[in-house]
Amino acid sequence: MCKSVNENRRNFLTKGVAASIALAAGENILAASASSSASNANINSITNTENSAVASAIQNNKNIPCKGYAAFDESGILKPWKFDRRAVGVDDILIEIKATSICHSDIHTELGHWGKQIYPQVPGHEIVGVVIAVGSNVKNFKVGDRAGVGCMVDNNDIKTAGVEEQYSPNTIFTYGSPYKKEPTGISQGGYSDYFVVNSHFAVHIPNELSWDEAAPLMCAGITTYSPIIKYMKKGQKVAIIGIGGLGHLGIKIAIAKGADVVAFTTTESKLKDIKAWGAKGVFVRSADDLAKYKAQFDFALSTVPYEYEIAPYIALVKPFGNFTIVGMPVDFSQKLPTLLLSSTKVNVNASLIGGMKETQEMADFCAKSGVRPNIQKITAAEINQAWKDIVAKKARYRVVIDPKSF
Ligand code: ZN
Repeated sequence: MCKSVNENRRNFLTKGVAASIALAAGENILAASASSSASNANINSITNTENSAVASAIQNNKNIPCKGYAAFDESGILKPWKFDRRAVGVDDILIEIKATSICHSDIHTELGHWGKQIYPQVPGHEIVGVVIAVGSNVKNFKVGDRAGVGCMVDNNDIKTAGVEEQYSPNTIFTYGSPYKKEPTGISQGGYSDYFVVNSHFAVHIPNELSWDEAAPLMCAGITTYSPIIKYMKKGQKVAIIGIGGLGHLGIKIAIAKGADVVAFTTTESKLKDIKAWGAKGVFVRSADDLAKYKAQFDFALSTVPYEYEIAPYIALVKPFGNFTIVGMPVDFSQKLPTLLLSSTKVNVNASLIGGMKETQEMADFCAKSGVRPNIQKITAAEINQAWKDIVAKKARYRVVIDPKSF
């Protein structure tokens, strides 16, 4: 173990890794300068001086100075924060963020609903932008590429991570994971202006997708796409439960994959949108509203991020069908009706995002098939209000933050 650490250190010092970064950085400084002038033309709030600081950090292999919004405690209030990300390593790319969106998981995490957190912590795991620097080992990205990052950023043993990296015990998730490489000791998420990531955990964003449309796909898109392609066949009847950020993309992806979709919502005003997307909408006031759809669906996808009375929804699925939970409640708990499960053999399972290969496939599929999220654009100063609106079910349907406002 010691030998290998020493060997790595020696390699780093003697085999020219630092030199090759500097070489890569040379090209990247040009890219960063070009990018900064383009940004200025777009009334960018990132000043020339700050872009120069990033360019200088790349050039000198130093930590990347970033601006973002962070939680400092469990209050759910985010405040501006300046922090450093690690210097661009040999396997890393540096992304100038062009859009970053809000997932309900950000809110649950920072409020401590899923366990104690280390603060300050920058949330956000729906991140897209332009690659402005690449490490010397990176083969899959070059400066100027459009890149996206979702819920994973690294793995401590990438060779064993497989194609569904999200289930590897060594995966580092995008924010709040203990992460020695980062100066703050934890991974810091995407509510910020720049991002450093192991290039394995980035995907290419097709040109057909605008930045604002691409960001929500990085978590909400893949989280719904993965179980839909696993459990649903063309022509089948699919129930989507809960029509927020995840649910609305679930409807669009399932329809694009050839399903007959019925969407169940407790917000009557969403029915018009649901119809416009090509699905039938059902306004649910009580379990009685669900009874007439009993045992009609081959597959149901539950996106509700809270504990709820799940039994009448599981009853929507035909015997031996599948019911997948992707909305994660407080403390991760739902009460399951075991008698119903034993008498129908409905397979209730839960699913976590998707692997990197599948995430690329999802981005390409959405680009080609016309699947786009409905978004609302905000500035960083509006994040705290946006979080309240999302909890109050007022968002329509994914809130995207303009990174120029950090
Ligand atoms: Zn998410």
